[in-house]
Amino acid sequence: MKREELETGLRGLGLEKGDIVLLHSALSSLGNLEGGVGSLVEAFLNVLGKEGTLVVPSFTAGIVPDAVKNDPRAVVSVAPTAQVAAIGAKAKEICADHWKCETAHAEGTPYLKLADLGGYICLLGVDQDRNTTLHSVEALLRLPYLSETSPKEIDTPEGKVTTSFKYFPGPHRDFIGLDKLFSEKIKTVVIGNAVARLIKSKDLVDISVAAGKKNPAFVLCDNPACDDCVRQRAQLRVARLKEEKFTLVSSAVLAGRYVPEMIENCKAAAIEHIELDYVQGKPVQFLSAEALQKQVEELNAGGLKVTALKTCAVPADMPAFLAKTKACGVARLVLPLTFEAEAVMKSAKENNLEILFYNLGLSGKATSDKLLSLNEAGFECGFVFHAANFARAGEHPFLGTFKTRCRRFMKQLEVADALYDCRDVGLARGNAEIKELVSILRCSSFAGNLVLGEGLRATGSLKDATERFWDLVDNM
Ligand SMILES: [Zn+2]
Repeated sequence: MKREELETGLRGLGLEKGDIVLLHSALSSLGNLEGGVGSLVEAFLNVLGKEGTLVVPSFTAGIVPDAVKNDPRAVVSVAPTAQVAAIGAKAKEICADHWKCETAHAEGTPYLKLADLGGYICLLGVDQDRNTTLHSVEALLRLPYLSETSPKEIDTPEGKVTTSFKYFPGPHRDFIGLDKLFSEKIKTVVIGNAVARLIKSKDLVDISVAAGKKNPAFVLCDNPACDDCVRQRAQLRVARLKEEKFTLVSSAVLAGRYVPEMIENCKAAAIEHIELDYVQGKPVQFLSAEALQKQVEELNAGGLKVTALKTCAVPADMPAFLAKTKACGVARLVLPLTFEAEAVMKSAKENNLEILFYNLGLSGKATSDKLLSLNEAGFECGFVFHAANFARAGEHPFLGTFKTRCRRFMKQLEVADALYDCRDVGLARGNAEIKELVSILRCSSFAGNLVLGEGLRATGSLKDATERFWDLVDNM
């Protein structure tokens, strides 16, 4: 390919005299360009003219970045990383004071100065994964998974300065998946063997910022085997959870069969609290004191706080179970509400344990009568509102039961769903009115636990349940 052909191609792409272009390129993609990299740079400078400016990222080595950086006409931005090299009328202005910016890519950096000046981004034979300006978008949004670079001493026009950048991107990204967002604003032509694309930087930034506001995980990949993105997604969730008053808890059996599995799955779902109901397929009340203590210790060591032990039935030997609970250092028990409630409360009081009862096979009226009578007898028990069980009892958990009864005792909501015919179903796909319940609890600043319950196993993993839960919450 001759330089003139490349110039014609670039004009066909829409570039004109006076334009400013941030170029990401792969020289080899053009095929055999006569004059090599020198020709490529001259072609751009000829098309842009004296009034125009060519900018390339120069923080990593490469044939094109090195050629521009080492050109005697070039200005290079001074920064600990993310530097650019520029040739042309606006080169000085674009490169000035990069090291003084708070971030590598956002406000005041060459990338956004170029956007504000009406500049373009040109991808020549490379994909969006090379598009550094997408990091500007992550930094503009101050996404919670970004981190600060380690301080570095650099030579600046004002002397030696030790500095770092905040909101710097981490390892993996899926920028390629964003391409469809820009389809209306991007122009594509083929030059030689290379696909060349051109978009106004301001358009790209505006479109991506809007997408990132809607979905902060917009540049992360979906590959469950990508440790980077799994971790970065969890950081987004942790930040999101901090905005809420409630505590999000996973039931152990939903998180996994074995403790290490529970720890790993909770970590990926950004859940730091667990309610221990089953371990290795065994209900907690059947574990020995030693086994129970060991599991609790392992969970704690893995960063999970055990909020309570939960049983599927009232243990046959209640005093022995209470002693085991006490020995493992968990202060709260979650039990089904049955005719044995008074006896349970008596021994719990002696052991200084907190008891929460959940409804199982009882109507709302029977449940609230029972809670009231316990209260009148001087027992301070709390209540877990098990919406799916109320649905199984043929009730309207929110419209009927919640509004009129039980609410004053409520410490916890079991987040799971079921149909009137007793089948477990995914969240907000059954008769448990779970969306209404979560919504009203948020509106009244409920500071108790929302427990992703065992019933959610029927429709997938903890990951699925967590995603569905946040979908519901974010669309309330
Ligand atoms: Zn990834």
